[in-house]
Formats: sequence, C-alpha cells, structure tokens
Amino acid sequence: MAKNISNTYCSIHSLREGSGICIKCHNPFCSECLTRFDGINYCKECLEKITSKESKKRFSSSFLKTFFLILFSFCIFLLTFYLAGKIALENISEKQIEETTDKKD
Ligand SMILES: [Zn+2]
Ligand SMILES: [Zn+2]
Repeated sequence: MAKNISNTYCSIHSLREGSGICIKCHNPFCSECLTRFDGINYCKECLEKITSKESKKRFSSSFLKTFFLILFSFCIFLLTFYLAGKIALENISEKQIEETTDKKD
C-alpha cells in the first residue's frame, strides 16, 4: 500500500491525475496547476504568496536605498548650507563689529 502520485488527483481538477505535489501545501496537482519555480513544484496559490513576498522585499530594500540616498544628499545639502551660512555670519559679525567700533570712536 505505498503512496503513489499517479493514484492521487489534482486538488483543483478532481478528474485529472496529479503529476506532482506542491512543496508548500503538500497537495497533489496536475501539470497545469503546478508551476516549476527554482526547480521546485509550487501550486498557483503558493507561488503567488512567494512572489508577492519577494516583490515586497525588493520594494522595501529599494525604498530604503532611495530613502538613505535622499537622507545622505539632504545631509550634504545641510552641511554646505550650514558652512555657507557660517561664513556669511562671520562676515556680517565682522562688519557689525567694525561698525560698532566706528560709532564708538
Ligand atoms: Zn501549494
Ligand atoms: Zn489541476
């Protein structure tokens, strides 16, 4: 009484003989319902779950990359703005000191 794949039927098409078992849900499926992904059999439902997860991962990593890139460029922008502002402020304060000393005299 050994379990034979040929004796099982597709979980979706009850009249079709199962050609393989989904690695995720362990249900038998026919060749039409099974999809080979990275050399492993998946049913459509499980494959959708896997691919949607992967696309989400890819999205988050690319989103983080762009986020850090924006943050980095923003920091550089702030730094240059700060330095430019500092130089400008130093020039103004020097001028103000000169003006105040002129008025005192
Ligand atoms: Zn499955
Ligand atoms: Zn089927």
